[in-house]
Amino acid sequence: MMQETARDAREPIARIVQAIRERQRFVLSSHARPDGDSIGAQLALAHALERLGKTVRIVNHDEPPPSLQSIPGAETIDVAGAVTGQYDAAIILECSSLDRTEVAGLDRYFLVNIDHHAGNRLYGALNWYDPSAAACAEMVYDLVAALGVPLTPPIAVPLYAGILTDTGSFRHANITRRTFDICSHVAASGVDVAGVAAGIYQSGTIGRLRLTAALVDTMRLEARDRIALLHVDDALLRDTGCPPDDMDGLINLPLSAREVQAVIMIKTLDGTTRVSLRSKGEVDVRSVAASFGGGGHRNAAGFSIDEGPEAESRIVAAVAAAVESAAGGPAAASESPTASGPTPA
Ligand code: 5GP
Ligand code: MN
Repeated sequence: MMQETARDAREPIARIVQAIRERQRFVLSSHARPDGDSIGAQLALAHALERLGKTVRIVNHDEPPPSLQSIPGAETIDVAGAVTGQYDAAIILECSSLDRTEVAGLDRYFLVNIDHHAGNRLYGALNWYDPSAAACAEMVYDLVAALGVPLTPPIAVPLYAGILTDTGSFRHANITRRTFDICSHVAASGVDVAGVAAGIYQSGTIGRLRLTAALVDTMRLEARDRIALLHVDDALLRDTGCPPDDMDGLINLPLSAREVQAVIMIKTLDGTTRVSLRSKGEVDVRSVAASFGGGGHRNAAGFSIDEGPEAESRIVAAVAAAVESAAGGPAAASESPTASGPTPA
């Protein structure tokens, strides 16, 4: 596999634009269990490529969750565990390592890697990696402009969906002035931005609403209310009627309380255990996830574990250490987090 050179790093967009111009058939993919940014980045780029007369197919390991099915074009995404067709390049968006696609066969193509996750593995022949981007959709916005494709609603809607969801509805610390510059152009393109938000946040299932109640009801607070612990398993989903892919965002619920600095959600579904972490401000849950073999961003990260409940206390201890270090160390931890810690995002 070719690695990025210094020259690639200087002009990653120009090299990707050139690679796209020289090729005709593209397959796009992203990480398994796609979120708003993976769906948004892929659909926007797919539409831009089609505008250039290219042939495009999006292949993901999992279907878009119900909350993202309102994004125009989501129904065109193919769900498969492998890619076998004839393509001139595979463009992987919003995915820190190729195995996270859970789609086999992508490594047979000329690989373009476009991502914003810290710790991206630079697995492409061309790598464009920008951890300062609030969403991969911000990077696709630049690429679409560099390709000379106008920002029409079929491109602007998925881009906005990616930014809206990856910033936690404009709450995360990853937001920059640039985020609003792009959103300003999105609004100018004629997109009904409130409609996009309603499609994503007001179109869930009743099961999701019931699960929300159950999660809050069974929530455990640790580390003097600074950490909230949520558990989901097959029985809870069955009892509440929530589809497994309609849980997106529920992990953020405990962050509404002033005391809570971090949330741990442990999902034991279909015999596997996945852990999601969320945090406020300077509390770095990415490094916690990385220490368990996962990754993500400072305020949103995740990992998988093979162990059972015995891992739980180690996870809580690691997150508690991250909370304490953001608050200025164990000594400061006895004070109020808002008095001694950095301003929450
Ligand atoms: P979520 O909790 O929504 O599954 O993931 C939150 C963030 O952490 C996302 O940016 C996601 O890509 C990242 N993430 C989740 N699980 C893993 C993992 O197992 N490995 C890596 N590298 N990143 C992960
Ligand atoms: Mn993202």
